[in-house]
Amino acid sequence: MNSKINSKKIIIMVLLTLFSVAITALVYLTGGVKYVYAHLMYIPIVIAGFMVGYHGAVVLAIISGLLIGPFMPIDIQTMEQQLFYNWFFRLLVFVIIGSLTGLAHYINQHQKKIIDQSLYFHNHLKIPNPNILSVTDFSVFGPKVLITTILIHNTQLIIDTFNHEFFAELLETIYNDLNESLDRNPIILQPTVSNTFWMVSGHDHLDKLVDELEDILSKQYHINHMPVYFDYSLGFKFIDNNYERLNVSVFNSTNIAAKEAHEQNRKYVLVTEKNEDKSLDYFVLTDIKKALQNHETFLLFQPKVSTCTNEIKLEALIRWQHPLKGLIPPMSFIPIVEETKLINDLTLWVLKQVIEKIKYFQSNGVDASISLNVSSKNLFSDEFLREASYLIETCGFDPKNIEFEITESAAMRYKDQTEQVIKKLRKLGIKIAIDDFGKGFSSLSYLTMLNVDYIKLDKGFIDYVTTDEIKAQIVEYTINLSHKLGYKVVCEGVESKEQYELLKKLKSDYIQGYYVSKPEKAENILTWANNRMNLS
Ligand code: C2E
Ligand code: CA
Ligand code: CA
Repeated sequence: MNSKINSKKIIIMVLLTLFSVAITALVYLTGGVKYVYAHLMYIPIVIAGFMVGYHGAVVLAIISGLLIGPFMPIDIQTMEQQLFYNWFFRLLVFVIIGSLTGLAHYINQHQKKIIDQSLYFHNHLKIPNPNILSVTDFSVFGPKVLITTILIHNTQLIIDTFNHEFFAELLETIYNDLNESLDRNPIILQPTVSNTFWMVSGHDHLDKLVDELEDILSKQYHINHMPVYFDYSLGFKFIDNNYERLNVSVFNSTNIAAKEAHEQNRKYVLVTEKNEDKSLDYFVLTDIKKALQNHETFLLFQPKVSTCTNEIKLEALIRWQHPLKGLIPPMSFIPIVEETKLINDLTLWVLKQVIEKIKYFQSNGVDASISLNVSSKNLFSDEFLREASYLIETCGFDPKNIEFEITESAAMRYKDQTEQVIKKLRKLGIKIAIDDFGKGFSSLSYLTMLNVDYIKLDKGFIDYVTTDEIKAQIVEYTINLSHKLGYKVVCEGVESKEQYELLKKLKSDYIQGYYVSKPEKAENILTWANNRMNLS
């Protein structure tokens, strides 16, 4: 880029020098410096000041001063020569004019740079923001452009481990590497200072770009001599370049594609007409806040029955009745909501409902405790913890009836921090369960590090407990170890009588699954609970 600018400046200087030579010839042919044409020399000098800058203007001023200096007569007819101080003084005036225009140009450029920096770049960073799209000429890329979203995944971990400045430096380093190493000069920017980069490049071989990006993003980065690793995924889409300015909305689908790639453990997803429709479903996300307020979301409750007492515990499971899309299962929106702060609103909404429903059951003679699923993002949000604590402290009944289910993978990822948060939550009097235990990769020794009330064994084990001897042994061993450590065990996803009987024999404390009951509305659960109490 720089060499391009320099060669452009050299060409301008050559042309302006020729201009000065032409003026010199004119001065000579029209009778010498006595006549007015010598003043024309200001023109190339001023042009050099504005087009090449300070140094160019001074150099041209000296050349021009010399050209119509010592060898140029005052009057060609008499061949009267100039005195030294005549031409030298003129040369000095040229140099002053050159310097002043060069300086004015420099100040102008500098101010433009400051304005550009605040308009087109993120604060304190050298990474462009989306405003850059409105001033970029995309016509150089031809009739089709490739748009790309680069999603960096473990950013929260990097911020937690180091700090925001460190993270900003990492982003800047990645940006510089992309900018310098990618062929074909793509336009790279960030929507916010976050985990996302956007890129616009020419319509070219996708595979080659994927390889280039992999080379850049998979290498080990060192920031302040510290090695940093990060995971990433990519979303691509080819769009028609109608030579109009691109705007931020064109990246919606590549953002989703990059998320999908991550969820599906793929390097990238290319948005095509065929899969775009599916991606559009994700735009439903924008409706979730409204949905929480407009009673489009509701809770179902699934019992966890004790294998030895009458005790009834319930798990609250969210549902979303979308006015256009119909009933949306939680797995279609929770993972996406979890990527945003909206998960705090969602979980707080569930907690409020759970508190209401515990009161509803109690006022109908059923002392049920209810668990809710809490996402890892919630646990590390001070705002969430503050509001949740307030709701729990003012619920009006013993908070032991409220239980938070935290997935094993979430708890594992930030072990130390999770431990601290769990301690605080248990102090409030609520119960804590580790959900989906065994689904992740943690070893049983992880159990010894916890300080919780319940372990929920993942359906993955229960599915094969009656047919796979090894799985049955693992379940038995986990139950025994949990008991030794003072945890109660819930087995989830129990679908048959055989499974139920075997798990009871293996001393599971609670059973949850379709065999006992599917998730149901609170009213149905009340009837079910009353029947059960009457039977015993
Ligand atoms: P989860 O917490 O592991 O919940 C258990 C899921 O298994 C529920 O699916 C439940 O309906 C289903 N299930 C229960 N028993 C059986 C069975 O015997 N057989 C089979 N095949 N499935 C059974 P659901 O309601 O679709 O929820 C899926 C996941 O969505 C939940 O998994 C949980 O991770 C998440 N989720 C649901 N509600 C919420 C919520 O309010 N907040 C958050 N953060 N996540 C939620
Ligand atoms: Ca759960
Ligand atoms: Ca579970």
